[in-house]
Amino acid sequence: MKGKIIEVINLKKQFGNNLILDDINFTINKGEAVSLIGPSGSGKSTILRCIADLETLTGGKILIEGHNLQDKGIDKKIKKELLLKTGMIFQNFNLFPHMTVMDNLTLAQTKVRKTSTDEAKKIGQALLDRVGLGDKANAYPDSLSGGQKQRVAIARALAMKPKVMLFDEPTSALDPEMVSEVLDVMKSLAEDGMTMVIVTHEMGFAKKVADRVLFVDGGLILEDDTPERVFDSPTNERTKSFLDKILLD
Ligand code: ADP
Ligand code: MG
Repeated sequence: MKGKIIEVINLKKQFGNNLILDDINFTINKGEAVSLIGPSGSGKSTILRCIADLETLTGGKILIEGHNLQDKGIDKKIKKELLLKTGMIFQNFNLFPHMTVMDNLTLAQTKVRKTSTDEAKKIGQALLDRVGLGDKANAYPDSLSGGQKQRVAIARALAMKPKVMLFDEPTSALDPEMVSEVLDVMKSLAEDGMTMVIVTHEMGFAKKVADRVLFVDGGLILEDDTPERVFDSPTNERTKSFLDKILLD
């Protein structure tokens, strides 16, 4: 059974008087990889940041496994558990530069999850192996390439055992030759059944890996369908012109 894991309901977000998200509605089911596309400035990052509780909502609600994160009366412990269900990957990696790769991987595990240092290191090493960086535990982030840094960032997020991974343009800061090593890791996560929401301009990847594609523009989700249908027969004129434009790039 594919249960709902994230429900975004009538989400509204304003910055000052600037209405960015007008009425956003979608559901992410367990095990789905969903790609979120749309023009620059359409609010894709803001949607992910709302799900990760990095923004206050102007209106609407976001349920994680049926629990309302913004519920004022929510128990602190429950809120912490809910927040641990999502892990976010940013365009610029956000690794701690003064810490080794392994320390980057163990910090939140030991501080937030209260995992023992030994166990955290074991988990960290297994995840480094998994992203193809088993020999980089003692390296510092600055000695790594962009693609390697992003793979460390993915391993770090996975170390917290999230239920959903939120990717915000994970390859857009990378040199072209490093894009595929990161997309390959993401593809293998999707194949293993990780639930993922992926903001990306990599349309080929979205087409191959995503179960669904959401197109956001003008504060609304204008498409929510299979990649085939969104890319090959979009229902909205704005989707068509967006796709025409990026295919020309
Ligand atoms: P996208 O990721 O689709 O490019 P964003 O979610 O980053 O779009 O931004 C959507 C809009 O919200 C942009 O116009 C941006 O300038 C504005 N915005 C984002 N964050 C803030 C903020 N903290 N304060 C004010 N405006 C913001
Ligand atoms: Mg963005």
